[in-house]
Amino acid sequence: YNFVAILEADGQKLQEAKFIRKGIIYGLLLNHFYDTINKNKEALALGAKILSLKENRLLYEIKVLDIAPPLLRCKLCGFASYEREDIISHIKQVHLQKFVEPLTLEELREYDSNLPVKIYKCSYCGLYVRGDDPSNPTTLICSHIEEYCPKADRSKGLAKIMFRVITDTDEIRKNVIPDLPRFRKCKLCRKHFKNPNEEEHLKHMLEVHEEEFYLYE
Ligand SMILES: [Zn+2]
Ligand SMILES: [Zn+2]
Ligand SMILES: [Zn+2]
Repeated sequence: YNFVAILEADGQKLQEAKFIRKGIIYGLLLNHFYDTINKNKEALALGAKILSLKENRLLYEIKVLDIAPPLLRCKLCGFASYEREDIISHIKQVHLQKFVEPLTLEELREYDSNLPVKIYKCSYCGLYVRGDDPSNPTTLICSHIEEYCPKADRSKGLAKIMFRVITDTDEIRKNVIPDLPRFRKCKLCRKHFKNPNEEEHLKHMLEVHEEEFYLYE
């Protein structure tokens, strides 16, 4: 007989090795397959075949061993891969942005105390008004509505004070403070990122919150 061991991935033969006969015992060192197993990150199957010596006809076939490397699974959507690189780039492309958000105006004031405490928008005319005075930030927006707003109705004495507090930093940047810093923070631990670089955000997530993103199966 011919006795061969065959290593397969997904039904495709990767490597074959012959069993060596010593007396009545056929033996094979699995070391033959070491490099191939190491190189392949997918699930492998090791099988053995007995073939007739003359015609090389298949007489018997048996599966010997399943070799499964740990599968990495995204905890957020179920995406899975045997390659850590795949799962990392998946996290970066699909999920990273949901874990990072802009700093609020209040948080940005830690870096620049000249920034206003609040930004208000007049509900009558849409004017944006800075609230610079920490102890009384609404003074300016109130006086705008009471005295200057072209749309507020002051015919029956004082106009009703109506304004919105603007918290969207993009809106503030567009309409009031063009050079408002684009600092962001980690939603999980509140760490601030002054650098807008996504790679830095990813690095932080993997160093500090890796277990939030994927697991080994
Ligand atoms: Zn995912
Ligand atoms: Zn107004
Ligand atoms: Zn964090």
